[in-house]
Amino acid sequence: MASVEQAPTAQAQEATGIPVENPATGKVIATVPTFGVDEVKQVVARARAAQPAWEALGFEERGRVLLRAQKWVTDHADRIIETIVSETGKTVEDAQLAEVMYAAGAFGFWAKQAPELLADEHVKSANLLVRGKRLVVRYRPVGVVGVIGPWNFPLTNSFGDCIPALAAGNAVVLKPSEVTPLTSLLMAGALRESGVPEDVFQVATGDGATGAALVDEVDFIMFTGSTRTGRKVAERAARTLTPFGLELGGKDPMIVLADADIERAANAAAYYSMNNGGQVCISIERVYVEAPVYDQFVTSVTEKIQGLRQGPSTGAGSVDVGAVTFPPQLEIIRAHVADAVGKGASVLTGGKVGGGPGRFFEPTVLVDVDHSMTCMTEETFGPTLPIMKVADAEEALTLANDSPYGLQASVWTKDVARGEELARRVEAGAVCINDAQVNYTVLELPMGGWKASGLGTRHGAGGIRKYTQQQALLTTRLAPKKDPHMFPYSARKTGVMGRLIKLLYGRGKRA
Ligand code: NDP
Repeated sequence: MASVEQAPTAQAQEATGIPVENPATGKVIATVPTFGVDEVKQVVARARAAQPAWEALGFEERGRVLLRAQKWVTDHADRIIETIVSETGKTVEDAQLAEVMYAAGAFGFWAKQAPELLADEHVKSANLLVRGKRLVVRYRPVGVVGVIGPWNFPLTNSFGDCIPALAAGNAVVLKPSEVTPLTSLLMAGALRESGVPEDVFQVATGDGATGAALVDEVDFIMFTGSTRTGRKVAERAARTLTPFGLELGGKDPMIVLADADIERAANAAAYYSMNNGGQVCISIERVYVEAPVYDQFVTSVTEKIQGLRQGPSTGAGSVDVGAVTFPPQLEIIRAHVADAVGKGASVLTGGKVGGGPGRFFEPTVLVDVDHSMTCMTEETFGPTLPIMKVADAEEALTLANDSPYGLQASVWTKDVARGEELARRVEAGAVCINDAQVNYTVLELPMGGWKASGLGTRHGAGGIRKYTQQQALLTTRLAPKKDPHMFPYSARKTGVMGRLIKLLYGRGKRA
């Protein structure tokens, strides 16, 4: 295992190292080992051996450990932010709000919620056959959970999924993105310091092949990343019938109705399309504005985006928009903008790759766009905001739903009842009215995509129960030597049963 505390295994050290680059400066800041198939097997075997003792600690003791980790996060916030900023090129503020604050909250949330959400459930049944019996649903940890994470939020989206898995009593092996492994290694040390026993949480650094090997070994795989790789993970997991969760891409629409608070909508459009450099699965990726307020909205949002400062984040408040973390992403963003311009779109601000040794794309506003352009149909995952004029809410809704994705959306109107009515018709796992993205911070709400945006949820009851197996327990205490339905069969008993079924269910009423 590679961590800030423990040296990588000899085998892993011998393997090819992965250089980790600061995308904002272009400098290589570390090298981490690539775990091969055998190392992944060993790591999972150690996790499997360590898991029963962790499970046996019970919710209370595990909760105490997680609360110590929560304190570690707040005590070491500056160090975590520095690590995240150095490997992603994002701003200090993006690392603070969307990563450190999330992780600190998540440790507390799952420590408190796990005992309730995974407590035995006593069930009542109307079925006469089981009258007087004790019926219980029990949640048992799956064993070893594998988490494969992306590069856009190394703490929140990658490490974050490990917290409920640990709270449930599982051991966890995390495979971070090869471009952002350092935060995960830092957190491995944090968990050890906080009292997580050795091997209960391990990090297997490496590339796609390392991730694929992990899928083969674990009892549940949680994947966050592209839809394309998500499909590969699902196919691979199918071979061993390993259950999985997928949090995939999105193309989140924003619908601005004529009666919206345009100033708030414009501020939100600027922020929720450009924060984290637009590299958020629930970024506003496309906007549909009703014709009467289109010009006002476009003018306002363009002014705000023009004023954004971009560059390496050298300290609090130094810049607004950071770097493009993942090298191939720069070309995807450039290609989407070029495709739009080639088909008649206009660039109101930005539109180009930024200068300097680091990797930047200028905050960009596109208008005169339509669904023939990739910027409106494929995930751009960068600092771009294409805005389209629509005749009315119905056209906006049709266009919003004209997508293979269904992760998240937002509707903006002062008529909140109408907004909610429209929201219920949007094909997405989450819809905000007069807001965006903040639902992600509400761990009580499920977060999961529809259509090609994913399977299953993180957060809410499903966010921890997915890391368990349900077991149904039926206990018979007082019983006759033989129940009436047991052998031997007879015409008389069959007749009585037939009349009973009719009596119970034959009147179209509830029994
Ligand atoms: P990927 O989906 O390719 O990678 C996500 C994770 O999966 C990484 O840790 C990656 O490892 C790993 N991986 C790659 N191939 C396999 C495999 N065959 N089996 C198991 N694991 C594998 O995302 P990218 O980083 O390539 O980003 C591509 C696109 O994904 C972006 O353009 C963006 O649209 C979307 N994306 C969505 C995110 C979201 O939050 N929903 C987050 C990040 C990206 P490694 O990095 O080492 O290759």
